[in-house]
Amino acid sequence: MQILSPLHFYPGPSKLYPQIGEYLQTALAQGFFSFNHRSPEFVKCVRETVHHLKAKLEIPDDYQVFFVSSATECWEIIAQSLVQYRSLHVFNGAFGEKWWKNTRRLKAAPELIQGFTFAPEACPELPILKAKMPPHTELIALTHNETSNGTALPTDFLWELRQAFPEVLLALDATSSMAGMALPWAAGDLWLASVQKCFGLPAGLALLLASPQALARAEAIGENRHYNSLLALAAQAQVFQTTHTPNMLGIYLLGQVMQAVAPIAQVDSLLRQRAREGYAFFEKLDFVQPLIQNPEVRSDTVLALRTHEELLAKIKAAARNKNIILGNGYGNWKNTTFRVANFPAITNTEFELLQDFMVNFKK
Ligand SMILES: *Cc1c(COP(=O)(O)O)cnc(C)c1O
Repeated sequence: MQILSPLHFYPGPSKLYPQIGEYLQTALAQGFFSFNHRSPEFVKCVRETVHHLKAKLEIPDDYQVFFVSSATECWEIIAQSLVQYRSLHVFNGAFGEKWWKNTRRLKAAPELIQGFTFAPEACPELPILKAKMPPHTELIALTHNETSNGTALPTDFLWELRQAFPEVLLALDATSSMAGMALPWAAGDLWLASVQKCFGLPAGLALLLASPQALARAEAIGENRHYNSLLALAAQAQVFQTTHTPNMLGIYLLGQVMQAVAPIAQVDSLLRQRAREGYAFFEKLDFVQPLIQNPEVRSDTVLALRTHEELLAKIKAAARNKNIILGNGYGNWKNTTFRVANFPAITNTEFELLQDFMVNFKK
């Protein structure tokens, strides 16, 4: 009996790389997942995974890589280990807002954890941000790619922000862009992502990358009370280990995938081109429009598409019928939008099938 996997365009969990099955079979045949997590075999796997990750994504040598379990956990680690009193959360959508609210819940003085919202159609305005930023802000939290509404922060903006606030730690949630887009690493001190989006891997693993400046701040603060305190993670990462038994399966698969994929510059240009064509395609349809009009702030990895409320359910049901899974709308945009992942594991052929479906959809 042959069971066909649907075409997955959901922006997380999303389509896995097809080689995952082979990687698993090889590792199982070698008894790999029964090695102790501090054994030479597994430590070698972590070292190689870090090596391939840094090489393929062009991550600076002096940035440290930490393996944790989710993007949400990364938010907590940043709150507990890098913010003593004051952070500023800059957001235009549901994930950025959730990060802000989670951080407020963790801090003794939540009123010092401030939110700065901006319109999805534009970048945050730096002069306004500067004017509104409370004194002694230790960290600015931003969502690089806001998965809920299909917006992304342009690279130029991130460099301007870096220049405007050289002393403040900049933390970026790149969950739905890391391993898809070439990121300006040095413009941020902390970059986080879980792997069920652009990495094309099963959920349950996340990466937290930290600059020397971020690690120096962790040292200065000295917070070391949690199993996932940044200082504790950093001490173990020196020897390619973790404070607890990590997601060995996820780390192993990440290493294999990173070894196999093209360098990030190539992946980036492929996705940008496909996004351009995708937006142009949807703009030509008379019943769907991109949610975001301004191409400067549109995401290249998550396409958010707007339609009439009555049509949305029909489109999704018809897609389901053709074994095509579209992403639901999110938060405020739940009833009028759907989302299409443009992640590296999805092939051009699959995109063509999606376009065929859309062209032939009968209202
Ligand atoms: C999916 C997503 C998250 C949540 O990731 P978890 O691994 O479930 O914690 C956080 N931020 C963004 C931008 C996301 O797209």
